[in-house]
Amino acid sequence: MFVSSYKTKYFIYGFIAAVSFLFIQCREDNEDIKTPVTENVIVVVIDGPRFSETWGDSAGSLMPFMKDSMLASGVLLANFFNDGATETTAGHTAMLTGYYQTINNSGQELPDHPSVFQYFLKHNNLDSTSAWVITSKDKLEVLTDCKDSAWQHQFRPARDCGISGLGSGNREDSLTLTRALDIFDTYHPNLTLIHFKEPDVSAHAGDWQAYVRGIRDGDRWAFAVWKFIQNDPVYANRTTLFVTHDHGRHVDGISNGFVSHGDSCPGCRHISLFAYGPEFDQDRIIIDRYSQIDLPVTIASLLGFTMEGTDGKKIEDLYK
Ligand SMILES: [Zn+2]
Ligand SMILES: [Zn+2]
Repeated sequence: MFVSSYKTKYFIYGFIAAVSFLFIQCREDNEDIKTPVTENVIVVVIDGPRFSETWGDSAGSLMPFMKDSMLASGVLLANFFNDGATETTAGHTAMLTGYYQTINNSGQELPDHPSVFQYFLKHNNLDSTSAWVITSKDKLEVLTDCKDSAWQHQFRPARDCGISGLGSGNREDSLTLTRALDIFDTYHPNLTLIHFKEPDVSAHAGDWQAYVRGIRDGDRWAFAVWKFIQNDPVYANRTTLFVTHDHGRHVDGISNGFVSHGDSCPGCRHISLFAYGPEFDQDRIIIDRYSQIDLPVTIASLLGFTMEGTDGKKIEDLYK
């Protein structure tokens, strides 16, 4: 009798312990699924290539790093579009504010609406160096502020734009990459835009070979950022990278073809979005259609806040 109750007692204790353990495990598993792990987002914009020379290139790859190394780690949205004005400032404004706006393209006008940078800094009550706008073209300094009187001159990200860093003259993309990696090392910002001016500038000069070289260089810059994320102890496994474009260029037969952009032809509208991050799937190409204004909504969701008023939607297809 004594032996039997002794065994029964320990059997019950054991049973309770096992059930508790399973319960705790299940809770931890569920919490792992629900808790986003992205703490940092980096958006790389390669200015103005056509889809036909990037992911849509069937003749030969101008993007060996993205196609052969990076795609296996992330997701490609092959049907991503600029549905507004297909100019540099307008494209950037759409993907940072969630609004298609007809905006002056020379750096003479601020976006109407606050950017994802301003929302992020306000939401987390952080100082400007937690978010950076780093651009080869000086005019893109306008992306650091907006016209909305409730937001203007407030919650502005730090900036490093053009040759002076403060917006006077464009600079080389190699220097922009160096500056970006220095800023990552020094500040480890939570939210960063890096803009490279090529291949757009060479295309406007009508130089096909330089345009092609600009796409190859953009591929290398994107790869350098992707490698930096993986090798950096603060960024590794906690950082999402997007690589995209502000607009494409005219298809052959429209105006002067690859040289220019700015209308609603398929070449100007069709861009792409590559996404790599802890919440996202890997080695997948998605053909569902998305639009530039969906990007800030997705970034906001990853970083734990919401953008108001925009018609953009979270890009659910990216997720595991
Ligand atoms: Zn552009
Ligand atoms: Zn066009």
